[in-house]
This record gives sequence, C-alpha cells and structure tokens, in this order.
Amino acid sequence: MTVGVWVLGDQLWPEQAALQTCAPPTPVIFIESHEWVRQRRYHAQKLVLVWSAMRHFAAELEAAGWQVTYAIAPTFAAPLQDWINTHQIREVRVMEPSDRPFRALLQQLQLPCRLTLVPNNHFLWSTAAFQEWAQNRKTLVLEYFYRAGRQRYNLLMENRKPVGDRWNYDSENRQPPKSGLKPPPPLEFAPTAITQAVIDTVAAGNFATYGQVQPFRWGVTRAQAQQALAHFLAHRLPQFGPYQDAMVAEHDTLWHSLLSPYLNLGLLQPMEVIEAAIAAYKEHHLPLNSVEGFIRQILGWREYMYGLYHFLPEDYGQSNYFQHQHPLPAFFWDSRQPIAMTCLRLVLTQVERSGYAHHIQRLMILANFALIAGFQPQAVKEWFHAVFIDAYDWVMQTNVLGMGLFADGGILASKPYAASANYIQRMSNYCQGCAYDPKQRFGDRACPFNVFYWNFLDRQRHRLQANGRMGLVLRNLDKLTTSERHALARQAEQWHHQHA
Ligand code: SF4
Repeated sequence: MTVGVWVLGDQLWPEQAALQTCAPPTPVIFIESHEWVRQRRYHAQKLVLVWSAMRHFAAELEAAGWQVTYAIAPTFAAPLQDWINTHQIREVRVMEPSDRPFRALLQQLQLPCRLTLVPNNHFLWSTAAFQEWAQNRKTLVLEYFYRAGRQRYNLLMENRKPVGDRWNYDSENRQPPKSGLKPPPPLEFAPTAITQAVIDTVAAGNFATYGQVQPFRWGVTRAQAQQALAHFLAHRLPQFGPYQDAMVAEHDTLWHSLLSPYLNLGLLQPMEVIEAAIAAYKEHHLPLNSVEGFIRQILGWREYMYGLYHFLPEDYGQSNYFQHQHPLPAFFWDSRQPIAMTCLRLVLTQVERSGYAHHIQRLMILANFALIAGFQPQAVKEWFHAVFIDAYDWVMQTNVLGMGLFADGGILASKPYAASANYIQRMSNYCQGCAYDPKQRFGDRACPFNVFYWNFLDRQRHRLQANGRMGLVLRNLDKLTTSERHALARQAEQWHHQHA
C-alpha cells in the first residue's frame, strides 16, 4: 500500500511525527494554498517566512531522497487529488495540526483514500498529558504548571529541588531601563534566492497583508535557526533576565531571543532550546535569573498556551467577560495615520517593520490599551493574529483573550493586566517627548492610558470588586469624586469618537 505524507507549513523538521512513520523515497507533498491565506490578513513577512521555510525544507527532503511534490494552488484539495492519483496513494498521513481551524479543514476534505492523523510531537506536553494535569484542579495558573514541567523533565533541578532553591526569579527580572543600555544586535540573515522570489510574490500585492515585506531579515532554514539560537545564547542570554520587561525606543527587542518564529514553525524544537540554554548556563556560569526566565518562557508559557488551547472548550474563543464592544481604531492597521501616543506609535511602527514585539510590548502596551479602552476582544485577537510573525491560533487565543484582555473572566490570570501610564513611564523611555503627560489624568494633555485606566475601573467596578486582588486599586478609585469620574467617562467617549 502506498503511503504519502502531507507536510503542513508549521511542521518543518525531519523528525516530525508523520515523516517519522515513513522513510525515503515515500512521496511527500507541500501545498501553498492562496485561498487559505486570503481568509484573514497576515503580516507580509509571515507569508514570506512560512513559504520560504516550506520551500527550503522541501528542497532538503528532496536532497535526502524523498519524492517531493511542491504545489502552489488556489486550494488544498485539487493538488492533493492530483498527487494521490499520480502516486496511487492509498493512505495520506498528516501530523495532527496544532490549530483547530486546520483540523476542521482536514475533516472537510473528501480525499479518495484514507487520511491518518499522526499525534503531534511539536510540544513537550501532549494534549492528553496536559488534560491529566489540568483536570480537577482548582486553579490553572501558570506557576504550578511550570513547576510540574521542571519536575517532569528534571530541568534546572538538583536533588528534586529547584536549582538555587527558588522556582522563579521574576523579582530580579523587572528592572526599569537605565540610560545608555547597549544590547548586542540580534543575528539577521540576508534573503536567499528562494526567499527573494517569495518576497517578490508577496510584494506584488495579490494578498491582503499587514506591514512591510522588506527588509526581511529572518532565518528560513533549520541551520539558520540554530545559528540564531547559538548567537542568542552567546550574546544575549547573559543579560536577558534583568531587562526582560523593559522597553526603550532605541532598541526594539533589547536582549530578547526572537526565537519564537523558528520554534513555532518547527525549525527549532523546545527541548533542544532548553537543553542548549542549560548547557550554556553550566559551561559559561551564566546568571540563573536570566537562564530560568528564558526557560520559563518555553517550558512554561509556550507549553501552557498550547495545552490550555486544547483543554478549554471551543467557545472559549467567543469570551467577552467585560462585554467590550468598541472597534479597533484604524491606526492599529496603518501607523501612517496620526498617533499622538508615542508608546503606541513606536510599538506599532516596530511591528509593521518586523512582525515582532517582545512580551511586555505586547502585554502592557498593546493588550493593556485594548483592555482599558474596551475594544472588542475577538477583533483584538484577530489583529494580534494578523500582525505578528509568530502568531498561530493556538498561541493567540489564550494569550490575547485570557492573559491580555481577561476576556475569560479569570481562567488564566488572577486579575486583569490593566495599568496606567505609571507603569509605562517606569518601565520604558517612551514617555520622554510624548504629546501627553503621563502624570495627568484630566485635561487635554492627560495621558489616555490614565483616562482609560480609571474609567475602566469605574465602568467595570461591579465585575472587579469580586476579585480580592483588585481591592487596593478600587479603594484608590473611591478617592475620585463623582464629577471626576464623569469627566473621565466623557474624555474616554471623546477619544473613541475622535478615533472612530
Ligand atoms: Fe504612552 Fe502616555 Fe507615555 Fe505618551 S505619556 S508615551 S501615551 S504612556
């Protein structure tokens, strides 16, 4: 019986589960479906990254003796039919997709042969293992899942205790930026001929994209992703910890790794990244707070997002705890439109330029503003999915709805990540020279983060007062007079009116 393997665009490594069940010269197919990518907007560089990485990986498999078919077509169905007929395939094997929409698409395909889903091996925790951990727990907070991961895989452990006798070095990893920080630049790659051909296709404007397609500086092969990992471990990881929450206008990404696009495509595997960080820690005596903070992002946060996405019911995606309904202002989609708020302008232009922002830029600038201004959660999630180069459904759903917007009412986060300009002024240099004053709450120069923050607390008080962790800020809200609260409501409405 002839078996064929269909390799999806985020399953690009030779040991992925479906390829592992076969050997060269088994027929393998890759498909770029133009109808599929027209269903939503993507960052122009995301299309280039995925398609170029697919084409490079297809060439590598061909060189290794697999019979590779590479199709560029309107739909998935037609090239699959042709390939099945040509090779007389009786069974198509696909590694289980990470995202639900693609699983649904597979179920709708009416192939003239058997379709076998091979369990996904792109994550350390299978969905079944996560379910076993999660079910019957009173709380699903990350910290306990992360500790379970450290124990389960015996990582940064000594005599069954965490190395350094602490699980978490967050308190050392929240330093505000001091002036003159000089992070080493991240490793960048010149486009290959294959990449340039994809850039030309995307630049031709046949797809509704977001952001700039060039300069494109991402790696597109496993070898380049490994170089990016080695460069991060040698040059950026040692300083990563203390400033991981800081933001400065002059350096987009500070000491962040920028490895998530490679991890999410399969060009790097989570355990190899974690083990490489631990090896560097031991060999070069790197600071534990940096190494632990980085490992928590992969062993903790990344696995937790994927596990929760499949554990929570499908209607989680429709959550809207605060009943927020405001549409996203147009400048979120096009930063050439005037944006007087310096922090938003800097982060939005950075995302347009590169498809990337680090976690605090995403959480405390973009998602925080969307939360306190009351933008509709599903529109915000769709925007995050469209603009980030490392975005997938499994990443964005719980990240944006749960962590960023508290739209699930507290399944992930113990309180909403809502903050005023105070946080941004402390953790960045964005406020210097801004048209708004981060200290003001009322009047023309009042920072919109302040107006919306206090108005959010006021509007949502009936929901927030049940949360014990909100007690202190609600007591501060009580210090405002009724006329001050009304003034904030008017300013908030005016802002929405001006940006409608
Ligand atoms: Fe952002 Fe307000 Fe600071 Fe301006 S003053 S950069 S709007 S936080």
